[in-house]
Amino acid sequence: LEARIQQTQRLESLGQLAGGIAHDFNNLLAVILNYASFIIEDAAGTAPASDAEQIARAARRGSDLTHQLLAFARREVIRPRPLNLNTVATEVHQMLDRSLGEHITLTVRTTAGLPSVMADPGQLEQVLVNLAVNARDAMPTGGRLTIDTALVDVDPDHAAARAGLSTGRYVRLRVSDTGSGMPKEVIDKAFEPFFTTKPSGQGTGLGLATVYGIVTQAGGTVQIYSEPGIGTTFTILLPVTDAEAHQHVPEESVAELAGH
Ligand code: ADP
Repeated sequence: LEARIQQTQRLESLGQLAGGIAHDFNNLLAVILNYASFIIEDAAGTAPASDAEQIARAARRGSDLTHQLLAFARREVIRPRPLNLNTVATEVHQMLDRSLGEHITLTVRTTAGLPSVMADPGQLEQVLVNLAVNARDAMPTGGRLTIDTALVDVDPDHAAARAGLSTGRYVRLRVSDTGSGMPKEVIDKAFEPFFTTKPSGQGTGLGLATVYGIVTQAGGTVQIYSEPGIGTTFTILLPVTDAEAHQHVPEESVAELAGH
């Protein structure tokens, strides 16, 4: 648990630091972009113009990056409220179904009668979208993406409890793909900000750091199970809201929504 707390604090201060730097850096890039465009205008069609275009292009790319950084670091007003993860999963399902592409089969399986968790709906949508985008990138030639919800009891024998999570009732949200999978070295670093294995220009390394930040802030955990060549499963556990922590909830009745 100590290690987890340290990692969370480190991620939070990294986020603040990154946000501050991104803000100043963005202003510098705006100046560079401005002067590059003066040169381009003055020297239309000649060699200095094309050099200046290179400068402008690099500055624009830097500016895109800093915007993503700001989105990651920004402490937006977070409004946690009792939330049913089935609702979030179903809404995201409709959005993803349109954007994942024909070669990926999306299935959302929700467990009926799920108790609520305390979280910000926009943030949880962000979590699902980030995980789905990674799953898509891991399945360039197609595959299956499955999102499911369930209610689990974390008792003292549960792996999550042994890893430091308090015992009690949790809602489990799983996102699985049949993609490339991740070797151990990648799993170990995956939640670190700026860690990416994607070609430059395609990955920022902020997707999973954001997921990690949102889930831990909501009192939950996120774990990766992955096998190269087989696929990856992200398992998120979020604590059931106090009011519902002791209610009886039936665990049967699984509804399935198949995509494509
Ligand atoms: P980015 O997607 O910009 O690279 P992320 O933080 O979202 O940043 O992911 C970090 C890295 O973790 C990815 O570059 C990739 O190597 C690995 N990864 C994340 N999700 C998956 C997945 N579903 N399958 C395989 N590898 C993944």
